[in-house]
This record gives sequence, structure tokens and C-alpha cells, in this order.
Amino acid sequence: MDFPTPCPACGFENRVAFTESGVHDVTCAQCRARSCVFLRKQRFEVLFDLGTRALMDGYAREAVASFAAALERFFEFYVRAFALQQAAGTEQDFGAAQAALDGTWRHVASQSERQLGMFALAYLLREGREPEFLTPAGLGTDFRNRVIHRGALPTRAEVNAYAAGVFALIDRLLTELGEAAAHVELAQEGVFAAHLARLPDGVTAVFEEHPGMFRARRFAGSGPALSPVPKADLPAVKGVRGVNDARAFQQALFQQALAERGALLQAFKGSGR
Ligand SMILES: [Zn+2]
Repeated sequence: MDFPTPCPACGFENRVAFTESGVHDVTCAQCRARSCVFLRKQRFEVLFDLGTRALMDGYAREAVASFAAALERFFEFYVRAFALQQAAGTEQDFGAAQAALDGTWRHVASQSERQLGMFALAYLLREGREPEFLTPAGLGTDFRNRVIHRGALPTRAEVNAYAAGVFALIDRLLTELGEAAAHVELAQEGVFAAHLARLPDGVTAVFEEHPGMFRARRFAGSGPALSPVPKADLPAVKGVRGVNDARAFQQALFQQALAERGALLQAFKGSGR
């Protein structure tokens, strides 16, 4: 999957494949000028936005895989934010804290069940309460497995409900994380700075911040102008009593985000699928 980025020398719109690091070395297809695009976006954001694009384009089944991956990567993001926030309150150097975190994550990286265990503990320690949403129903696990592992062909409505559930959960946890999320952003800036220092002469560095389903809200004001979410239009969170109310709330939240930010994702509509 790729994204468009204009050449800093001639303006030609090159398409570049997303990398995991956010660092993209580009040679312009038109003028051969070299540049390096640093994309300020977390992996869960890229995945959720790709899922949203797939859903809007009618690829319901592919969308489920992206949403499921986005949720897993978000749990990693949460653990990283928590661990770095904890370290920030101590004498420990940020680089050392990050290295210890990376080393620890390697023990769980290949198994999502282990990662879920890490997340559950991080949530308990940070919030002082049980992550009550970590149930098969709360995570949409059965639906996800039917689609991803058993080849079920989901309806658009089912995928919409799943996407809304994942969106509402990430949105809520991002709100709870608050400033802690900045620690992971800082880690990404560190990776960028190290790469920037090694760039050869004649390569132009370009920093990009893409709009997205989450970023637009988290960085309100720094991206394209967006209206704040008018919570008055949504069923009150505190008023949510039953499962049906919760579903209605999730749907309303997701549909509103889609209406506000979906068009901004149009740029990612890929030739590179
Ligand atoms: Zn060019």
C-alpha cells in the first residue's frame, strides 16, 4: 500500500510504499532528485486508515484484517506509552528506557496472546482497574476469526459494526492515555533524527503529517481545519446502559469520524494495493 508525496525539486507526485519505520527514501520518477520522507504516523493509525479506505471502497473483507491489525498494534502502542511514561518519572535515560522496552517486547513480539497479557497488566497498573473490555465480545474476536481464519464473507453492516467497535475502543484508550502518547511520538522522532543525521548531501528531508481517523482529533489545529466532535450529537457515554446502547454509541462515533475525516483519506486510495 502506498501514499502520494510531491517531489521537493520538481513537484511531481511520486507514490511511495509505507514503511514500518516511517522513513521513506525516495528517488523522483520524473527528475531523479533524491529525498527522504519522514511520516509522523503510528502503525496502528496507518492500519486503521487503510482499513477505512478499504471499507469505503467496498473491500469489506480486507478491511477487517486491517482493523484487527490496527487494534493489535494499538495495544503495543499503549504498552510502549505506559512503559516510557513510567521511565520518564525516574532517573533513567530515555534511550536506555527505550532499549529495555525494545528488548522486552522482543519476548512477546511473535505471539499476540502474550502482547494482550502485557497490555492487560499495563492497563491495570496505569488505570487501577480491570480492562473490562478484553472479552471476546468487547474485542469482536469471534467475528474477526470467522473472517480472517475461516474465510467468512462478512456483510458491510457487520464490518461497519466491527470497525465502529475497534474505533470506539482505540478512541477511548487514547483519551485515557492523554499526554502519555507523546512519549511514543518522541521515540519515533528519535528514529527520524538518527536517520536524518546519516542522510548524504543532496538528499532533501521532508516531514509529513497525514490526516487520519485518530490524528485529526489528537492533533486538532495542527492539521487541516476540522470541526471538533460535537459530543452533543452523540448518545451520552454515561447514559450507555446495555449492549445495544453501546453499539449505537460506537456506530454514532465512528460514522461521525467517517463523515468528518473519511474524505481526507481519499489521498491514500491506492494504485499500490
Ligand atoms: Zn522530481
